[in-house]
Amino acid sequence: MGKKVILVSIDGMRPDGFLQCGNPFCKTMMTDWAYTLTAKTVYPSVTLPCHMSMFHSVPPERHGITTNLYMPPVRPIDGIAEVFKQAKKKNAIFYGWEPLRDICRPGTMKHGVYHNALAHEDTDRRLTEEAVDYIKKEAPDFVFLYMVETDEKGGHDAGWMSEKYLHHIAVAIDCVKRVSEEFPDYEIVVTADHGGHDRCHGSDKPEDMTIPMFFKTDRLEAGKELTDVSLLDIAPTVIELAGLEPAPEWEGKSLV
Ligand SMILES: [Zn+2]
Repeated sequence: MGKKVILVSIDGMRPDGFLQCGNPFCKTMMTDWAYTLTAKTVYPSVTLPCHMSMFHSVPPERHGITTNLYMPPVRPIDGIAEVFKQAKKKNAIFYGWEPLRDICRPGTMKHGVYHNALAHEDTDRRLTEEAVDYIKKEAPDFVFLYMVETDEKGGHDAGWMSEKYLHHIAVAIDCVKRVSEEFPDYEIVVTADHGGHDRCHGSDKPEDMTIPMFFKTDRLEAGKELTDVSLLDIAPTVIELAGLEPAPEWEGKSLV
């Protein structure tokens, strides 16, 4: 019997950024949840290619998106959103960076909220509050909540591991705490898309390629540290938690 799932992507969150951000909830995520600090993302370690791989469980050479510019794929495959839609489940996306609209086909998400993070302060918190309101009202089966300020206002503006970057990670972890406490019956998966170094990312350096992931589910032992995890494992894991069938083309594995 599947459960409802919230997937949170914290853009550009490095494992050491998570560990040093100073939010006390990080400890809970490592003792009460299962986690890894050594998962590998895909190359190029760039936001749209990585999110396409997160949702479609194939590397960029298969989905064809290798930059932040979306091109309709030659051989399209279903992703997380399409699998939920085909199962007649209710799904929703909350995001602060416009190109992410292309991680699912038009009309696939039942509900979508976009705020331009560059034009407003506190976009990550605002999107989280709007997601909380929506989940309370509509009880969707799958919610994707995407935090961009860590990358845009932290990493790119001030530098990876800078004070401002760590501040935005601490805020994003607050948002995770908020949904975790508000919705104890949901399974929660938290991941990054890539890391970063200096004021950029996209290379094959370990700082760009290594990401943390966290899983709040009874199906994994509390405090368990997972090994050999890939970004491609997110979609199969989310779909398994929801009790649905993965798309046949997916290359990752379920972690539960
Ligand atoms: Zn990114």
